[in-house]
This record gives sequence, C-alpha cells and structure tokens, in this order.
Amino acid sequence: MTGPYKIAIRGAGVTGLWQALTLARRGHSIIVVEQSAEPFTDACSPWAGAMLAPRCEEESAEPVIRELGMRGLQLWQATYPDLTSAGSLVLAPARDRTLLDRFERMTEGGNRLDAAQLEELEPDLVPRFDTALFYSDEAHLNPGAALDFLLDEVRSAGAVVQFDTSETPEGADFIVDCRGLGAQDMLPTLRGVRGERIVVRSPDIAFERSIRLLHPRFPLYLVPWGEDETGANRFMLGATSIEREDGGPVTLRSALELLSAAYVLDPAFGEAEILSLGAGVRPAFPDNRPRIITSSGYIFVNGLYRHGFLLAPVMAEMVAHYLETGVTHPEVFIADFGQR
Ligand SMILES: Cc1cc2nc3c(=O)[nH]c(=O)nc-3n(C[C@H](O)[C@H](O)[C@H](O)COP(=O)(O)OP(=O)(O)OC[C@H]3O[C@@H](n4cnc5c(N)ncnc54)[C@H](O)[C@@H]3O)c2cc1C
Repeated sequence: MTGPYKIAIRGAGVTGLWQALTLARRGHSIIVVEQSAEPFTDACSPWAGAMLAPRCEEESAEPVIRELGMRGLQLWQATYPDLTSAGSLVLAPARDRTLLDRFERMTEGGNRLDAAQLEELEPDLVPRFDTALFYSDEAHLNPGAALDFLLDEVRSAGAVVQFDTSETPEGADFIVDCRGLGAQDMLPTLRGVRGERIVVRSPDIAFERSIRLLHPRFPLYLVPWGEDETGANRFMLGATSIEREDGGPVTLRSALELLSAAYVLDPAFGEAEILSLGAGVRPAFPDNRPRIITSSGYIFVNGLYRHGFLLAPVMAEMVAHYLETGVTHPEVFIADFGQR
C-alpha cells in the first residue's frame, strides 16, 4: 500500500473531520459527504464536553483508551491553538472520600493535592473540599469552536466538503465510513448511549479546568467553555449515560441530579443561568471500544463512545498509517468483516 489515494469520507462529525484533515495533509485527495444540510446538526459531536482526559477515563475504560488517548491529546496540542491545557481535577465530598481513593487506584498520573495546593488552582473550591486529585497534563476544549476550526482546516488542506448528500462519490480508491450511529445499517452491533447535559453561565464562577465530582448515584463533570458575549463564564455540566438511542428532551430526574451535583460543587451555581438542556447519543460497540474495520476498500471508523474528541485524531493517524504501510494496531483494527 502506498498512495496517494482518492478517498471519500462519509460523515462530518469529529471522527470524519479528523480523518479528512489528516489524510488531506498527507497528500491524499479527499471528498467528505455529510447528510445534514448544515454542519453538525445531525451529529453527536457538538454535544460533547469536550474533555481530553485519557488518564481520568481509565477509571472506567480499558488501558488501550489511555494509550491511544495520550497520543490523541498530543495531536490536538499540535493542531488546535485554542485548547485549554490546564489539567483536570477530581473531587469527592468528605463522606465519599473512598471514591477518591478508588479513583486514584484505578488511574495513573494523578497527584493528591492538599487544601493549600487546591486553593492555588481553584480558590472557590476551598474550604468545601480539602483534597483533590490533579491530572496536570489533561486538557479540554469547547466542541463547537473546535468543530468549526476543523471544518475550516479541512477545507484549507484542499479537501472538498459536501453537505446535504448521502451519496458516496464514485471512483474513490477507499471509502472511510465515519457516519456514527448512521452506520447502524451496516454495523448491526453498534448502539447509541444517550448523554444528557446542561449548559449554564455565571459571572460569579471562574473555574479554569475541568472538574469531576465523584458521587455514588450522580457523578458530575464540569467543563469551562470560556466567556460568552455578556462576559459571563459558560460551563457544560454533564453527563448521564443511559442505554437509549433517542436524543429527545432531558428528563426531570437527570436535570435535578446534574443541577444538584453542580450545587454541591459550588453553591454559586444556584444563581447561574441555564442556557440549554439537551441530549446527544454516543455511538458505541458492545464493549465500548473503538474499532477500525477494513474490508476491501471500505473502512469503518466508529464506536468512539465517550471518547470521540480524545480519540478522533489518533484514529485518523492509524488509518493513514494503514493506507500507507499496511500496519495495523491489534487492539483497534478488525479485518474480518463478519466480526462487525
Ligand atoms: C453528553 C456527551 C458528552 C461527551 N463528552 C465527551 C468528552 O468530554 N470527550 C470526548 O472525547 N468525547 C465526548 N463525547 C463523545 C463524543 O461526542 C462522540 O464520541 C463523538 O462525537 C462521535 O463522533 P462521530 O464523528 O463518530 O459521530 P457523529 O458526531 O454523530 O458524526 C457522524 C456524522 O455522520 C453523518 N451521517 C450519518 N449518516 C450519514 C450518511 N448516510 N451520509 C452522510 N453522512 C451521514 C451525521 O449526520 C453526522 O454528522 C460526549 C458525548 C456526549 C453525548
């Protein structure tokens, strides 16, 4: 395998755009087809946090997610100028301190902070919290801004992006299918996992880094999305994980749980204004691991579950290596089409 090739990419979510950018920058001729008339209106991607947290994710994901995620984080750092590289904090109320101990055991690279160290990073958390885990090399971004950036970069790299079409162009050497849940017609084991989130704004809250609050019933994470046009800070509060495939309105229970957890984190959230409540549906395989499935010129990249932003760049790098050298990652590639 060598190239350069003519490559058609189906789907312009974060997975498809990273494929397009990586392959176009490596000299391949790229056309992206997206079914929605406007960018990102039918995608899961704009619903993300979006934390780039390979170390924290290892608490509930397999080691391969951390391994690939560390590379994904590097690729974002090399590509996206507006990444916030301020690390992540993990907290637990005093009565749930054992959850923090467990989180520390299940992950690598977290430093245990005392109250003075925590106060230096996020003064508003003290004295309600007197210890935390800090993962200094993690990052986050605003997904809307990052997706707009990727789309611009894809076009600048020479790729053609067509909206409002599901038709795959003829004559491509390879088709890379990044349709997310839209690929359920060909990937029968792919399922959707609903994630509800709330976006709020407050001029009085000034967290700089993503924060996870551990709780036995309703864990919460918060991602700072920067200032809005009024000068208030915006925060994404998320997210539920429910085995349902509809992206309909947020339930009252989920809203209550997310908002009360935010209030535990900082009572100043009581005065925050709610900007939106909504749900996205994450594409996932039964084991929640991402897959690259190859079959005579057709390549699926799918199942990025709750790690789409983290893993999309490294999935693209792996596809590029595969097309250029035939090399595959044994834990991600599946060559047998029957194992879809
Ligand atoms: C609440 C929530 C929070 C999340 N937080 C994080 C996080 O903090 N960090 C992280 O890394 N990930 C996070 N994720 C996960 C991440 O958002 C997903 O893994 C990722 O968006 C999946 O992207 P995708 O491009 O594979 O799919 P999608 O974004 O769904 O894109 C697929 C695209 O294919 C198009 N399409 C479908 N059918 C066709 C067709 N026939 N022809 C052409 N186009 C088609 C669709 O219109 C869509 O635009 C979160 C997800 C949710 C819901």
